[in-house]
Amino acid sequence: MLQKTSQFLREANYIDGAWVGADSGATVEVTNPAAGQTIGTIPKGGRTETRRAIEAADKAFHSWKKTSANERAVLLRKLHDAIMDNQDALAELLVLEQGKPLAEAKGEVGMSAAYVLWFAEEGRRAYGDLVPSPWADRRIMVTKEPVGVIGAITPWNFPSSMLARKIGPALAAGCTTVAKPATQTPYSGLAWGVLAEEAGIPKGVVNIVTGSASEIGDELCENPLVRKITFTGSTEIGKMLIKKSADTVKKVSMELGGNAPFLVFDDADVDRAVQGAVAAKYRNSGQTCVCTNRFFVQEGVYDQFVEKLIQATNELKVGSGLEDGTQQGPLIDQSAVEKVEELIADATSKGAKVVAGGNRHALGGTFFEPTVISDASPDMRFMQEEIFGPVSPIFRFKEEDEGVALANDTIFGLACYFYTGDLGRTFRVMEGLRYGLIGVNEGIITTVEAPFGGLKESGLGKEGGHQGIEDYLDTKYVCIGGLGL
Ligand code: NAP
Repeated sequence: MLQKTSQFLREANYIDGAWVGADSGATVEVTNPAAGQTIGTIPKGGRTETRRAIEAADKAFHSWKKTSANERAVLLRKLHDAIMDNQDALAELLVLEQGKPLAEAKGEVGMSAAYVLWFAEEGRRAYGDLVPSPWADRRIMVTKEPVGVIGAITPWNFPSSMLARKIGPALAAGCTTVAKPATQTPYSGLAWGVLAEEAGIPKGVVNIVTGSASEIGDELCENPLVRKITFTGSTEIGKMLIKKSADTVKKVSMELGGNAPFLVFDDADVDRAVQGAVAAKYRNSGQTCVCTNRFFVQEGVYDQFVEKLIQATNELKVGSGLEDGTQQGPLIDQSAVEKVEELIADATSKGAKVVAGGNRHALGGTFFEPTVISDASPDMRFMQEEIFGPVSPIFRFKEEDEGVALANDTIFGLACYFYTGDLGRTFRVMEGLRYGLIGVNEGIITTVEAPFGGLKESGLGKEGGHQGIEDYLDTKYVCIGGLGL
């Protein structure tokens, strides 16, 4: 296990290139969810520390924005290399505070590096336009410039890669950042300060504060020096941040909650669907925004799918993320376990059957058995609520239109998946689903090359793809006359 002396386990905030505590000296304890033990502490910062970080970021912005896209790309490539050189240590740190299996943690850290590298290149392609002018003596230019200081707030389920999607494009565009990682998983966030130092990123360009979410969030939203808020987390907090950012008319990017449907049609390859279902459901113990929340299976293959999913689920190895072969770690905390229990009790009281798992795991703590629930119906709570746990409720449907209507019956619109062997159906269903991310015969689809983001109340803006840098750029129109043409 990682020792406290590890260079990445920083019990301090990173402001203006210095490692500092909260002004009051107050701290918050951080716990390992697998062992229930304290790992260390972090500063309990608030408005004052955040304001100082914003002022440092604003000062740094004036010189950082003047660096060339190529200079920034060189530094971002160094940041990428620093992440990859330390992939194992960063992954262990992630497991320690978050609980996911080591292989998943390594994957997440690799993904963080991949986002940084992608945006290192995209920054060099932040093209403007030279527009055909309606006037013979004037020219029209459209330029792209960095937005300014960015406030970035991230959740505990992907504590490394969610920051990569924000710090990567921000720095590539020429913006500076003040980041606030989740209190339950702060060390993977603070590690970005160590990595930025190692890569030689100038002081003030990356700042990281921890502590009171409401105080830090309020300062980021209200301070006029911050020109954009980028948030990944729950829809509830996202809506609040949009409202709070309105007074200073900031740009906002929101990666919010999901309620992913997973449709299996009669003509699907059921074995492939089960394999995709396990990946799309039990990864990170079901605690991802793109995890399947509702399975809709057409009646012709319903029994077969349920039986095969039970078998696959029963084979999953539950354990500490650092143990070899672990496929499902603990849940983040006791309230997550209680929510899962409440949702299962609600379902069984309305006629659903628990056909695999259904209980706290024998390992104790916050471990929960991988669970399958058959005979789910739309009046059950998980039709509308994010489960965020290892539970697969399976609904039955008859007609294609009915399946699509059930899948769309939610305020969310982040990820969805469907399995079919019919080409016409592929296009009909794909065009009918109101989701920002669609996996067809695939259960894992996130990649840096593609735009990630939700529709409806799942969010605003895209992260990744060539679209991912746009939100960090302002567009300016310049009309040049008096040219004597
Ligand atoms: P959360 O409760 O919304 O917290 C996310 C972040 O917001 C944390 O850093 C939290 O800080 C902070 N926060 C809480 N209250 C705040 C306030 N008043 N002002 C400013 N910041 C505040 O979400 P979570 O439980 O950590 O994460 C799970 C949610 O994230 C799920 O809904 C999931 O679907 C969503 N998610 C979405 C995506 C996506 O890309 N769409 C990706 C991952 C997760 P503290 O930790 O200090 O409370």
